[in-house]
Amino acid sequence: MASMPYCPSPSQAVVDLAAIVHNLGQVREQAGGRQVMFAVKGDGYGHGASQCALEAQRTNAADWFAVANVAEGQKLIAAGITRPILKLSPALPHDLDAAATSGMRLTVTDDTNIAATGRSARRLARTVKVHIGVDTGMGRIGLPAGELLRLADLVDREPNLELEGVFTHLPLADTPDGEDFTTHQIEDFLAAVERTATSRGPIAQVHVANSGAVLGHDLGATTMVRTGIAAYGYDPNPSLQRANLRPALAWRSWVSFVKQVAPGTNIGYGRTWTAERSTTIATIPVGYADGFPRLLSNRGVVLLGGRRCPVVGRVCMDQIMVDAGPHAGTKVGDEAVLIGSQAGETITADDMATAAETISYEITSGLTARVDRYWINASQ
Ligand SMILES: *Cc1c(COP(=O)(O)O)cnc(C)c1O
Repeated sequence: MASMPYCPSPSQAVVDLAAIVHNLGQVREQAGGRQVMFAVKGDGYGHGASQCALEAQRTNAADWFAVANVAEGQKLIAAGITRPILKLSPALPHDLDAAATSGMRLTVTDDTNIAATGRSARRLARTVKVHIGVDTGMGRIGLPAGELLRLADLVDREPNLELEGVFTHLPLADTPDGEDFTTHQIEDFLAAVERTATSRGPIAQVHVANSGAVLGHDLGATTMVRTGIAAYGYDPNPSLQRANLRPALAWRSWVSFVKQVAPGTNIGYGRTWTAERSTTIATIPVGYADGFPRLLSNRGVVLLGGRRCPVVGRVCMDQIMVDAGPHAGTKVGDEAVLIGSQAGETITADDMATAAETISYEITSGLTARVDRYWINASQ
């Protein structure tokens, strides 16, 4: 049987690896000698976890990597990541054996979880390095900081666990209003770390800062920062823009159909948009199944011919329609930029997020597997 010709996806995401290295450099500068942990969960916030992590490892832009689940860590190791990888949340009981054999660092949170992790490590005859995750106000995982010393003692009593780190997470680090709260969180946490270290000896890695905190907070006696969104080129608070960050991901497609419409013409499901004048409607082959949010129906913008053109009608699963304007001259095959620059105009993931009532994180990590990724500007 004749093999079928390869055909790329009708939209593509282009990830600039040099931008990621640059952004990690900005974070490293702000981190003041602390180690840099690069969060590549969610397939590198949609940018390709292995490709971004390998580039960061090759260029020494990151010292550590962080993932959300065991499979993500296993993939990084299989791809050639040799620097330490931390799983940022406790493993499910039925994932513990896979987690313990993976070689990655595990997060432990409480008595049950420490005991189960210790049992798994013992059964597999492995030494597992663990980080205790403490809750200082995020309310997601972990016990209060007052329990840290007791939990550290529990870990010490597990022969197959080695306490390598302690950390907490900051829910308000990206808002000026949260400054006092965050400062107190860091102080309370560091006081608990100090008591723990006094009683049992120093802890190698102490980490609190996400991108928001690296860019805006005094990080005290911590040894490492954990950055995700800043590495991909976005300030977690789009109104602050605290460092010289370069968005790493561009998303583009091409016009697949063009028509001139008369005033009164309706567009899309529900016929929610009506032309008020004669205009040019361009159809672009991306939709919510690619990660173009349906909330951008009659709200989003796309670059065509270097101009911002509004999305008209509802976003479909596989296509969107945009109003290119009365005398656009738009042709089938013209480039359409969904995220990125065209002839001096730019749409960022922040712009898209604002229109879709969400955050840049959800936009980039929401690009689905249907969108081919290309990586450019690698160091070698
Ligand atoms: C995702 C994550 C980070 C990175 O957060 P950014 O805001 O993207 O910098 C840091 N710490 C933990 C625990 C996380 O889950």
